[in-house]
Amino acid sequence: MNFEITEPKTLPLEANGHILSFSGKTEAEVYFLAGIPQVSGVAYGCGVCDERPKYQVTDTAIKVENPCPYPEGLTTEITLEVPSGKIVVTDGLSPLYSYDDSGLASYNSALGQAEAIRAMAAAGCAYGPVGNSCPGLYRTGPDTYVVARPGYDEDDNPDLPEDDCFAGIVTDLWAYSIADFDHWKSRGGDPDTLGWTVSVVDITPGTYRFTHHTGERGFNGDAPGAVVFAHVERIA
Ligand SMILES: [Zn+2]
Repeated sequence: MNFEITEPKTLPLEANGHILSFSGKTEAEVYFLAGIPQVSGVAYGCGVCDERPKYQVTDTAIKVENPCPYPEGLTTEITLEVPSGKIVVTDGLSPLYSYDDSGLASYNSALGQAEAIRAMAAAGCAYGPVGNSCPGLYRTGPDTYVVARPGYDEDDNPDLPEDDCFAGIVTDLWAYSIADFDHWKSRGGDPDTLGWTVSVVDITPGTYRFTHHTGERGFNGDAPGAVVFAHVERIA
């Protein structure tokens, strides 16, 4: 065996669609250990698909062999049944609603977050990551809403009407969690002990589709204007 270690060198990184650097680095370092390329200075797994890249190193570039399977990123759709016509809105509803993350992709990736959203939906909770944004649930039409945070102009006026904000969401947990009020009570939720961070909101009874956007390519939670994390609409 040859355990020779070569001098590291910096080469352009051709990521093949994977997100391996959140700061947008286009180069990485590589050295060879016993003939096997060791790439450093970038993430261990892709921020979208969570795959650990397989590298091919030439004299002029570090290339990832397989393309990212999600060139557009991930838009995650789930549905929430709201037969009671009331929803509980807050950041987290654990332990009444939770999911088993074993076997799921890393929550640091868009895929892992999409899997978490779907697992929570299966438990009866519309859930989604929102970063440290303190968003609100805003009404946008008769039976449509967004989970969004406003942008502010120079005079600190928000670009989403405050009158349309039905519930503010603290982001200690960097997420929103929304459940049908009766379903939540059936799981042991106690309306008499609701803290100030939990809102109960009246909406039209029915089935609601949540379309969550944070996993999409180009989604920018730090954009200056209003940021929509999820669209919510009544579909039945
Ligand atoms: Zn990828």
